[in-house]
Amino acid sequence: MRAMKAMVTLAEIEAAQRRIAGYAIRTPLQPSPVLSRHVSAPVYLKLESRQTTGSFKLRGATNAILALDQEARSRGLVTASTGNHGRAVAHAAKALGARVTICLSALVPRNKVEAIRNLGADVRIVGRSQDDAMDEVERLVRAEGMCFVPPFDDADIIAGQGTLGLEVIHDLPQATMVLVPLSGGGLAAGVAAAIKGRCPTVKVIGLSMERGAAMAASLVAGAPIEVQEVETLADSLGGGIGLGNRHTFSMCKELLDDVILLSETEIAAGIRHAATIEGEVIEGAGAVGIAALLAGKIRPGGPTVVIVSGGNIDPAAHRQIVETTEVGVMP
Ligand SMILES: *Cc1c(COP(=O)(O)O)cnc(C)c1O
Repeated sequence: MRAMKAMVTLAEIEAAQRRIAGYAIRTPLQPSPVLSRHVSAPVYLKLESRQTTGSFKLRGATNAILALDQEARSRGLVTASTGNHGRAVAHAAKALGARVTICLSALVPRNKVEAIRNLGADVRIVGRSQDDAMDEVERLVRAEGMCFVPPFDDADIIAGQGTLGLEVIHDLPQATMVLVPLSGGGLAAGVAAAIKGRCPTVKVIGLSMERGAAMAASLVAGAPIEVQEVETLADSLGGGIGLGNRHTFSMCKELLDDVILLSETEIAAGIRHAATIEGEVIEGAGAVGIAALLAGKIRPGGPTVVIVSGGNIDPAAHRQIVETTEVGVMP
């Protein structure tokens, strides 16, 4: 039944908000005086980098697992992410007492493997690519009847991510623009549905890196397409949207007012600005909104919210970016 309906509704997002209360925290909306002066409009940062597990992914993962009935949950959960989704699923499963298996390829760094293992997940190292890890997920679903928790293209995941949009529009009802990082589109679809459900005139802009942005390329092409994945500072924005995409492509097509692409230099400037001016450690994917404002690629006409989606960055990489002498904008 559910597969027939592409769009996630405001009512489903409101239900998700009630469901995940107590599991995910309500993150702060912090004014940025320096960015406000830079763009001559009030700018606020929605700090999901301070969310439990370091990204918004906990919202969708928790909502999706809570939506499963006890029988499905008791069969055990499984997913194959190397990053924030895997950590969120491992955390939510632990909080809800569900057995969870996270499949990782041998290329995943040891510190990430340990972080997921420390949450009590059964970690399986299989093959040397994300595709190999996904093959193992499919095998576990078939052979052991485990329940797959998808990363973005799922109504409960989208509704969970959308709860962040409800918080934004509650805290800043006068907002005229919201900037949202865009990869598979679970975050952008959920946030746009929440914001436009409450305030239809607010502009919602998606932000990706210049190279290897699958949703951006698919929106231009008019249908889901594959793009080559390349290394980027915004590592959490990599990966495809699925050629059989059911929800996020049509929702992004319908609800996003524009998509803006950022260069690696611009993303680095966003990370650096967050650290030196705002006092926030954020990862590349979380920095694209700040980067777009610093680069003058977006000119807000009124109060603007930048969604800072995550903070999980390797400390050594962060130090190197911040210590580079080039500066974004001075106070
Ligand atoms: C997953 C992720 C995104 C992108 O979310 P999608 O729902 O895949 O578009 C953005 N930022 C961070 C930090 C993420 O972990």
